Amino acid sequence: TVGAVALDQYGNLAAATSTGGMTNKMAGRVGDSPIIGAGCYANNANVAVSCTGTGEVFMRTLAAYDIAALMEYGGLSLQQATERVVMEKLPVLQGSGGVIAIDCEGNVALPFNSEGMYRGYGYVGDAPNVGIYNSQEH
Ligand code: ASP
Repeated sequence: TVGAVALDQYGNLAAATSTGGMTNKMAGRVGDSPIIGAGCYANNANVAVSCTGTGEVFMRTLAAYDIAALMEYGGLSLQQATERVVMEKLPVLQGSGGVIAIDCEGNVALPFNSEGMYRGYGYVGDAPNVGIYNSQEH
């Protein structure tokens, strides 16, 4: 999977997810990536999320939208909501993987419960922080 999330200077949040699917997938399988709310979700009011991992579990849990709902209706922070889904909810159904997410305040969360997940983020303009993470870092 290749995913991206972004927040622009006008407050627009966007998410994109692309994938070749799971190894040895059934012919005709449609994974979670193109299903808004499952593997991909963005809502200017709170968060943009892109997911990678066991698509069937991301679909069954509506993982990307669940993060938005936990924030909007549950009052969780971005970090709390992404960790609740990735570290607690997905494993119940043997779901392996992770998410990248950015909220409307520019907070970034990149949790994963799999062995590794290459990810990075950067800011443009006057923002000072750029981070590149490899699969060994949490
Ligand atoms: N989530 C994708 C799928 O189930 C697989 C992946 O993350 O690469 O199709």
